[in-house]
Amino acid sequence: MAKIRVLSEEIASKIAAGEVVQRPESVAKELIENSIDAGARAIDIEVKDAGKSFIRVTDNGAGMTEEDALLAFERHATSKIETYQDLENVATLGFRGEALYSIAAVSQVEVKTKTADEDAAVYLRLEGGRRDDVSRTAHATGTTIIVKNLFYNTPARRNFMKANPTEFRHVYQTISRYAIAFPEIEFTLQSGDETVLRARSDTVRGRLDEIFGERFTDSLVAFEEDYDHLKVSGFLGKPEYTKRTRGEQFLFLNKRYVINKAINHAAFSAYENLIDKGDFPFFAIFIEMPPNEVDVNVHPSKLEVKFRDERSIYGAIRSATRSALVKSDLVPEMAIAPDTGRFVSRATTESSRGGIVPVSFNSKPAQRYIEDERIADAVDPLFSLRFPQSRSSSAETSGAESDSLEDAGGIIYQLHNKYIISQISTGLLVIDQHAAHERVIYERTLKRFNEQGQNTQQLLFPISLNLDPADLTIVEETMPDLNLMGFSLKMFSGSTVVLDGVPVDLKPGRESTILTEIIEDYKRDNDLRLTPREKLCKTYACKAAVKAGDYLTIEEMESLIDQLFEAEVPYVCPHGRPVLVKIPLLELDKKFGRI
Ligand code: ADP
Ligand code: MG
Repeated sequence: MAKIRVLSEEIASKIAAGEVVQRPESVAKELIENSIDAGARAIDIEVKDAGKSFIRVTDNGAGMTEEDALLAFERHATSKIETYQDLENVATLGFRGEALYSIAAVSQVEVKTKTADEDAAVYLRLEGGRRDDVSRTAHATGTTIIVKNLFYNTPARRNFMKANPTEFRHVYQTISRYAIAFPEIEFTLQSGDETVLRARSDTVRGRLDEIFGERFTDSLVAFEEDYDHLKVSGFLGKPEYTKRTRGEQFLFLNKRYVINKAINHAAFSAYENLIDKGDFPFFAIFIEMPPNEVDVNVHPSKLEVKFRDERSIYGAIRSATRSALVKSDLVPEMAIAPDTGRFVSRATTESSRGGIVPVSFNSKPAQRYIEDERIADAVDPLFSLRFPQSRSSSAETSGAESDSLEDAGGIIYQLHNKYIISQISTGLLVIDQHAAHERVIYERTLKRFNEQGQNTQQLLFPISLNLDPADLTIVEETMPDLNLMGFSLKMFSGSTVVLDGVPVDLKPGRESTILTEIIEDYKRDNDLRLTPREKLCKTYACKAAVKAGDYLTIEEMESLIDQLFEAEVPYVCPHGRPVLVKIPLLELDKKFGRI
């Protein structure tokens, strides 16, 4: 057996560095955090070779005296906490006192720094953690730190770095996170000769615009909720957008970008039934809470956090995000692409005005409309949805803008036995009849589980079904739920099941196949976000709904629309596909050269 020996400082520091400095991105992150902690109002970052050969971070923060600058590179040297108690209440991004020490151990570092009280700046150079020059230089109040040739003395680490585009992407993502979390600080990122990011705006929303482009951020849903000891706010991407962009997920805790599976899941689950399985929504969520209710000292990178009361935070995030989504206008708009004349879907830009929210149709029988109180408040009095019953009744309610159109009919029209088309004050609404009916049945069926109503219609001629063992197990497992939904089933000898009642809202003619179809779909649906009950409802809704190709009478269409707008989430079917699409008059006017 080898003898135990204490590792040299040099090896020990390289080992320690491994935990904090994994790649150029980690260096950028630690330096930026230090600049923010130093009270900088502007932070400029420059990288070469994705940061592998050169990273410079310049700030206009407090700067350091010579004494501090020298100390800063010692292990566990920090100005941010003193006692263990302080750790409970850290308000700064850093506190471990190991970043500069670790970075210096595996690179060549140059520092220029000056406090407001001094005339000349300190110049410091270190190589592999060893100081090889201290002198004076010129620099404005603040600090510049240059890190060259990362991992020059640890070849194994160097080889672990990925190709430049990958490493750069990490650097960029990290910087954009700080730019979003700290809109009061200006950020620029230069890579080689190119300025890649210039974050100047002073609001979170503005920062999102600068990073993702206004076309995208226009579609975001803003939200804000206050709870005891907890404030949650942020922006959510509309479900419709996740179809085309893999959404990014930002979670900030007291302005610190963090990763926390439970919280992410809470937000993600708010999109339940709104997006397809495998789609990732965009969200940026800010949590503010007393620092002592959370532990940020879980890992050297400080990315992971532990909450004292994770469950209530989970609940708060879930309810805040869900209600924001449900309240917002999730109807996608069709824009007509100018070049091709084809319809392309894009996210609605109506978000700032709030959404289409149902009001009771019965209150004004002659003027059936759906209107959001927030909109009615005057933003756009014409932004309302009308389903006039007849020419005359619509004429009396139509505003100036709609004279030509609403007089022209205002009726509901079924297109190719597949879509319901209806006029709305801002243009045209297209409803997918199957998706709409699916949504209606889905919600109604889910509700049944909480009500003790009579949901079964007895069959005159009970149907017996022969099931294989696997299907039999599913029926046995789901029997109580199937009963609540309205299916009346009796287990018979061996593999036979007798169906003698079906849900009241099932269209006649489908009784004999519906159960086997449900079992089939139930087996295939492996969406883990859904409970078995929700899965059952989803498959039942899909099977029981009218199909594309089914002819609908005007009354049926009207009733479907009525029910749809009473649903909690009328905008998407349980599979996450859109139910409604708007074609704005404006787009048509553009197309026809009217404006
Ligand atoms: P920590 O940030 O955890 O305190 P670091 O190793 O990152 O540890 O930094 C050590 C110390 O160096 C900090 O506590 C701070 O006092 C000082 N420091 C580092 N960077 C800057 C900077 N850009 N401006 C002013 N002081 C800095
Ligand atoms: Mg630090």
